[in-house]
Amino acid sequence: AVPVTVISAIGAASKLGIVVKSGAAFERMGSIRTVAFDKTGTLTGNAPTVIAVKTTPGVSSTEVLRVAAALEAHSTHPLASAVLARHPHPPEAREVTEDAGRGISGTVDGAHVRIGNTRWLDAADLTPTAQTLANDGMTVVVVERDARVIGLLGIRDELRPNAAEAVASLQAAGIRTLMLTGDNASTAAALGREAGIDDVRAELLPIHKSEAIQTLCEHSRTAMIGDGINDAPALAAADVGIALGATGSAVAVESADVAFTGTDLRLIPVAILHARRGRRIMT
Ligand code: ADP
Ligand code: MG
Repeated sequence: AVPVTVISAIGAASKLGIVVKSGAAFERMGSIRTVAFDKTGTLTGNAPTVIAVKTTPGVSSTEVLRVAAALEAHSTHPLASAVLARHPHPPEAREVTEDAGRGISGTVDGAHVRIGNTRWLDAADLTPTAQTLANDGMTVVVVERDARVIGLLGIRDELRPNAAEAVASLQAAGIRTLMLTGDNASTAAALGREAGIDDVRAELLPIHKSEAIQTLCEHSRTAMIGDGINDAPALAAADVGIALGATGSAVAVESADVAFTGTDLRLIPVAILHARRGRRIMT
C-alpha cells in the first residue's frame, strides 16, 4: 500500500504540473543521486533555427533546403521544425524512414536523399566546415543526394531558459548531472559547458543511451530526463524516467515514471526535493 503522505505529496506535485505514475516512483525519486539529461528537445528546445547553409559546388542553398524540408515534413524531431521554417512548402517525399539518433532518408524528385549527423553521413569535402560550425556550438546535419553530399545545415539550438539554474540546483542538492546525446562531441561540449553539466557523453545512439543509464543505475539511483521517441529506451532503463513537455511523444510518456506537463527544467530539482521531504515525513 502507498502511504498517505506519499499520496498527498503526489497530489501537491500534480499542482506543479508534475504527474507521478506511482507511489513507488515517487519514493525512488526522493533518493535520486544522478540525473541524466537528453540534449535535443530536453536541455534545448526553444525553436531551433537553421543559421548556416553550406553547399558543394554547383548546388544552391534553396536546393539543399528544399530536399531537406521534403524529408523533415515527415519527422517530429525538434530539428525538423527548424528546416521546415526555412522552406515551408517542400515537394512530396516518398519511402521516408527515420533512423533514430541518426537522421532521415527517402525519395525526393526520384533521387535518394539522406539527412543526418556527421557520424552517419560522411561530410566529405565539407568536413572542415562541419567541424567549424560544431566548434561554434551548432548542430550540424549533412544533406546527401544519390550518395553524394550536397550541403550542410548549421542549426542553432539554444539551451532552454532556466537549464543552467536547474543544473545548479541539482548540484546544490548533491546530485551529479550528465548529458547523453546523439549529437557530435564539439556541439555537446559547448552546450554542456553553458549548462554547467558535470559529465557530457556524445555521439550515442538510443541503445547506447539506455546502456549508459543501466550502468549508472548500478552505481547510484539515476533519473533520465527526455522528450522524444528516441529516448523511450533510456527512460525505461532509468530508476526514474522523466518525460518532459506536453509535446513529448506518447511513447516517451508511456515509458516514463514521471511526466512534466511543462518544460521548466527547474521543476526537476523541485520534484526531487519534494519527494525527499515526502520520504522524511514517512520515517
Ligand atoms: P539528442 O540525443 O541530442 O536528443 P537525437 O538522438 O535525437 O539527439 O539525434 C542525434 C543527431 O542525429 C542529431 O544531432 C542530428 O544530427 C541527427 N538527427 C536525428 N534525427 C534527425 C532528423 N530528423 N533530421 C536531421 N538530423 C537528425
Ligand atoms: Mg532528444
